[in-house]
Amino acid sequence: MRIYDIINKKKNGLSLSKEEIDFFVKGVTDRSIPDYQTTALLMAIVLIGMTDEETFYLTDAMAHSGDIVCLDEIKGTKVDKHSTGGVGDSTTFVVLPILASLGLKCAKMSGRGLGHTGGTLDKLESIGTNVEIGEEEFFREVNGIGLAVIGQTKNICPADKILYSLRDVTATVDSIPLIASSIMSKKLAGGSDVIALDVKTGEGAFMKTVDSAVLLAEKMVAIGKAFNKKISAVITDMNEPLDNYVGNSLEIYGALKVLEGEQNELYEVSKALVKEACRLSEIEVTDEDIDLAIKSGKAKEKFVNMIKWQNGDVGYIEDKEKLKASKYTYPIICNYDGYVKSFDLERLGLSICKIGGGREKADDKIDYFVGAEINVKVGDKVNKGDTLGVVYQNKPNDISSDILDCIRFSSKKCEKLEKVIKIIK
Ligand code: URA
Repeated sequence: MRIYDIINKKKNGLSLSKEEIDFFVKGVTDRSIPDYQTTALLMAIVLIGMTDEETFYLTDAMAHSGDIVCLDEIKGTKVDKHSTGGVGDSTTFVVLPILASLGLKCAKMSGRGLGHTGGTLDKLESIGTNVEIGEEEFFREVNGIGLAVIGQTKNICPADKILYSLRDVTATVDSIPLIASSIMSKKLAGGSDVIALDVKTGEGAFMKTVDSAVLLAEKMVAIGKAFNKKISAVITDMNEPLDNYVGNSLEIYGALKVLEGEQNELYEVSKALVKEACRLSEIEVTDEDIDLAIKSGKAKEKFVNMIKWQNGDVGYIEDKEKLKASKYTYPIICNYDGYVKSFDLERLGLSICKIGGGREKADDKIDYFVGAEINVKVGDKVNKGDTLGVVYQNKPNDISSDILDCIRFSSKKCEKLEKVIKIIK
């Protein structure tokens, strides 16, 4: 078999066989296929597409390119959740504690920030949490308190790591079969029984339209089912920051507010994910049960226990204002009389990266305590001179006007955005 012939076949619009896809993934993993041929095939896949069967074979081959985690040592139903990536999206810190308080086991392996989107591990590290505990300790923690969030312990999906880094620099990220196989290979290798997906749609998401998000969600759900997973996807809006806080420590702050009872958009999306995870786990929960998990303080206690177990600094939870401890704060002052129309979320996310909140290069150090608090949503009425939020910085180069430029205004009334759009079962 020759990689040249496989590239040529895809370029000519034909479907690849399981053997050809296995050959490609093996050659990517052992680096016997050079990057120029790998990226030629990736571009052909972006332009021609893949059938469901090919996408399934690609997912299977990538999932098996490294280790598959066995979670048998954890007793009970193991639940995973996955967001396709957003801005101000700290649902993991709300969903997992609620699920754990309802008796489910959440053994989650998370990632770091990507492009303009934030990363769960970076947010946890902002309060000193150790996300690199070994596998045995990970199992002990989940058995003990019902949840743990760590980075990958093993050699999980090495093929995806190589392919993703090449896609990132060759304009080959935005392909439904490539995104579906990339995400699902990691979910399958992660070993959970139940998977609740949060597929974002909108300006700040990979999937810009609802139709494309539904297509991606349907593909991922079909792949999960083919591998005997209980899986569904909640399609949620990413046309405005989900929570009012964007930045690592600030997103922990926002999640804590919800765990302490604030009912907002972050809570609404988290609740939809909790309900799906429970339905798939065959646990009956009502809205009141979920509200009670918060009101009783049980969900917050789960979060605190997780941070304690992983040696994080609970001082930040006891006095959450410490999470806003940047050297400089600059108000975002409105320059328009009218309504909030939309957000440029990529620009917003990248502006936070530029002041240190995310990485521009893989080895950049993150400044955990910078970010933005934005207290307006699409549809809100605003006036010139209003304070719309605050920028938290550690250098005195006030970027509040850049953040203001990420908010678009209109003189006409604008509809509020629906957060939970559809559920794909
Ligand atoms: N997240 C992933 O893990 N892979 C993709 O291809 C896109 C988002």
